Amino acid sequence: MSELNLILLGPPGAGKGTQAERLRDDFGIPHISTGDILRGQVAEGTELGRQAKRYMDAGELVPDDVIIDMITERIAEGDARDGFLLDGFPRNRQQAEALNEALGSLDRRLTSVLLIDVPDDDVVRRLAGRRVCVKNPSHIYHVDFDPPKHEGVCDQDGARLIQRDDDKEDTIRRRLEVYHSQTEPLIGYYDDAGLLRRFDGRRSPDEVHAHIRATVATLRLEETL
Ligand code: AMP
Repeated sequence: MSELNLILLGPPGAGKGTQAERLRDDFGIPHISTGDILRGQVAEGTELGRQAKRYMDAGELVPDDVIIDMITERIAEGDARDGFLLDGFPRNRQQAEALNEALGSLDRRLTSVLLIDVPDDDVVRRLAGRRVCVKNPSHIYHVDFDPPKHEGVCDQDGARLIQRDDDKEDTIRRRLEVYHSQTEPLIGYYDDAGLLRRFDGRRSPDEVHAHIRATVATLRLEETL
């Protein structure tokens, strides 16, 4: 069986989480979101969550050592044996290199890096209106573009919808600055490695999904040849 070891790259609000959920269902590989894992730790009140929260609320990156250990352990778990979709990791050069090392020590390599690109103004509009399910943060809505059937209530499980603390406008701006200075250079890094595929994130979620799914299906075929 060929592996699909994928990274979803792109600014906050590009739709990485939405696409990752769909691709997980299409290809049966786990969606590993560092942001979701960290928010889970915050909600549980763990020591890691307590430490991470102040960085997250400020729109800054949580220190690399914490994140790298978290991901190295996660990709070695059984459900990621045939592949994974990393969402929100790596976010800088050091994390990217640590990932290469971790994969190398498991005798694995990246299949591809899927870049979903969206201009800053669209990011701000999207994130400021984003609402997430309090029970399952991968159930995501938008007050204008993708409202739930009943205001403030998740269609999928009836739980309450909330705005993430870091989806307030000032924090969004800071997250974008961090993206441009630290994460965007990874586009060139993975392009040079011949791994990058680009997708226009301004298109509808269905269109982006159809495009990515077709690309991943081709990649999987190529992996088996
Ligand atoms: P996200 O949901 O991916 O936008 O992540 C929310 C927040 O979690 C970020 O603004 C960071 O504070 C933190 N975070 C998520 N992933 C990482 C990462 N790979 N490295 C450092 N911090 C991260």
